[in-house]
Amino acid sequence: MNRVRNFCAGPCTLPVEVLAETRDELLDYDGSGMSLIEMSHRSPEYDAVHGDALERLRSALEVPAEFDVLFLQGGALLQFAMVPMNLLPPGSTAGYVRSGAWGKAAHADAERAASTYLAWDGTDAGFTRMPEPSEIEVRPGTRYVHLTSNETIEGIQLRSLPDLAVPLVVDISSDFLTQPVDWHQVDLVYGGVQKNLGPAGLTVVVIRRSALDDSVAGLPSYLGYAGHAKAGSLLNTPPMFSVYVMGKMLRWIEDRGGLAGMAERAARRSGVLYDVIDGSDGFYTGPARPHARSRTNVVFRLPSPDLDGRFLAEARDAGLVNLKGHRSVGGMRASIYNAMPDEGVDELAGFMRNFAQGAG
Ligand SMILES: *Cc1c(COP(=O)(O)O)cnc(C)c1O
Repeated sequence: MNRVRNFCAGPCTLPVEVLAETRDELLDYDGSGMSLIEMSHRSPEYDAVHGDALERLRSALEVPAEFDVLFLQGGALLQFAMVPMNLLPPGSTAGYVRSGAWGKAAHADAERAASTYLAWDGTDAGFTRMPEPSEIEVRPGTRYVHLTSNETIEGIQLRSLPDLAVPLVVDISSDFLTQPVDWHQVDLVYGGVQKNLGPAGLTVVVIRRSALDDSVAGLPSYLGYAGHAKAGSLLNTPPMFSVYVMGKMLRWIEDRGGLAGMAERAARRSGVLYDVIDGSDGFYTGPARPHARSRTNVVFRLPSPDLDGRFLAEARDAGLVNLKGHRSVGGMRASIYNAMPDEGVDELAGFMRNFAQGAG
């Protein structure tokens, strides 16, 4: 077996321990004579897995009692629409922060579903920083302000949530369980689990119960949060495999210090790569402003795009894959989510130093 260091932006690497345990259980789950993914989602076995994953997620993310946790499908993308459909009755509005490609996409979909406005636009800054709280416009009658805590493509991150005197809705897809959520400020957070927490197919929504109670009624059944909450996220067939593997990943995270452990890892490991960039005498440059640098997506450029192909090929030979940046930004991106081993980051740092010496 020759596993590479996979820096993909998502889906991404999972711990070998989690993959091996999943493999070992695949043909015969707990003596049932079948795999978990061949069972009814109403079976006692799956029910236990589902309940366990919900509890572990709640505990890992330190979700307060006044919030409900929902397991949904459709990715973060469906939440771009479901959030306004559920939280914005006719006559209300919400502000959207366009901090990067994902914030922009969230706003574009929300506009199709309800009345919204642009609360801050980072386009002119080239999406190299997040807004200061005072720069975010909050119009009278605003139901919520939507934020993207980490812009996966541009590699910029909010270090803390702003206090805006209106509830926040936050897309935490790419820094899920790598930094704490300030629950006082939010009515809802959502994120796909395929970056930091497991396989694709599952989206977690955490919603304040009062927001759930006030949510828009009469939506088609899948699109309303209330129905999912009432059914314990078993309104229809859930993404069983993703829930099951996420449960294992959450145990893996617990064994490594939980949220605090993951936050420490993210700060330390991104620091290793930013130190290489800053110590390269300008060979590597990071477009993100230093205070806004993402701890999960480290974006950097080489002195010339002509070197990109060679960098990627030599990295590949060294077992370091999926480092190409998003086509809209160019350059390189190292996504270092929760499951990336420390050794992977150290190997990349060593490779980058050597490459700069050889090419510089
Ligand atoms: C990946 C990503 C999305 C899209 O998620 P899907 O699950 O593919 O819909 C949305 N927002 C952010 C911040 C992301 O990183």
